Amino acid sequence: MITQMNLAQADNAPPIRLVIHGGAGTIERSKLTAECEQAYTQALTQSLIAGYTVLNSGGSSVDAVIAAIVVMEDSPLFNAGKGAVFTHSGRNELDASIMDGSTRMAGAVAAVTTIRNPIRAAHAVMTQSPHVMLIGQGAESFAIEKGLDIVDPAYFHTEFRWNQLQKAIKQERILLDHDADPDTPLPDHDQKRGTVGAVALDRNGNLAAGTSTGGLTNKRFGRIGDSPIIGAGTYADNRSIAVSATGTGEMFIRTAAAFNTAAQVRFQHTSLEKAADNTLAEIAAMQGDGGLIVLDTKGNHAMRFNTRGMYRGVIGNDGIPRIGIFTDTEQPVTLPPASAR
Ligand code: ASP
Repeated sequence: MITQMNLAQADNAPPIRLVIHGGAGTIERSKLTAECEQAYTQALTQSLIAGYTVLNSGGSSVDAVIAAIVVMEDSPLFNAGKGAVFTHSGRNELDASIMDGSTRMAGAVAAVTTIRNPIRAAHAVMTQSPHVMLIGQGAESFAIEKGLDIVDPAYFHTEFRWNQLQKAIKQERILLDHDADPDTPLPDHDQKRGTVGAVALDRNGNLAAGTSTGGLTNKRFGRIGDSPIIGAGTYADNRSIAVSATGTGEMFIRTAAAFNTAAQVRFQHTSLEKAADNTLAEIAAMQGDGGLIVLDTKGNHAMRFNTRGMYRGVIGNDGIPRIGIFTDTEQPVTLPPASAR
């Protein structure tokens, strides 16, 4: 059982840190209901605590990233795992990737439809195959062979996402998950659910990064975005930083966003914030938008976005989850006493 007290670490412990995002977009305070904000805060807090519990007990950054992302994949609030958006043909096709900063081993799956937690499949590709990326049916056969949790595709179906697809088809639009739609606005809280990602630093000074998504509503022809692409949506290297991205995937691929950010830190000694902002500026110049979370081996981190908001959170040695949605600073979340949880 987790209490605030046993979450906190001694001051002289090596830095541990976990940073997460749940998608970036036009998230407006005036339109997000208190219940909705609370639901996101709760889900993000749960994700942070799941990852922190791993780090605090001496676990690896890779395992912390998986633990944090699985919570968000299992939550219908985010466009990853359950709650993923639909393709044009009414399927949920999921993408995910993970990278270990200590070895630069990486794994990814794309366009999978039956794997409950794509991030676990990405991890299996990284650790139990000689490959980096497996797609579609091949990835699914691999996941079965590795004993991962397989579900009926109907598991991923949510009513809201289905209605979102019907609107997108009517308008002949491919919707980025957080696209605002002024003509036929979707309920505001429903527009903003996004891709999820995590970056972590463990007690041994190792970094890891992971990202998981359903991609874009109404996507066609086997479209794959940046999330499962190492160097675009995800990157981790102990010599620089760990990065996870969310946003207009095509521009994140064209700018090699995650690697680009890491390369600035490694070769030009650019600060984390500035490096992320430089990458986002390149993306903005291509009419793209989104956000990046970054973390180095000293425990410095940044959460940058060029949209109105980004669901995000951070937890460090003090064990206090800090959550942000809009442009203001992340706020500490007070955990209820263990007995009330
Ligand atoms: N980057 C994701 C993609 O293009 C979408 C997102 O982050 O919302 O598939």
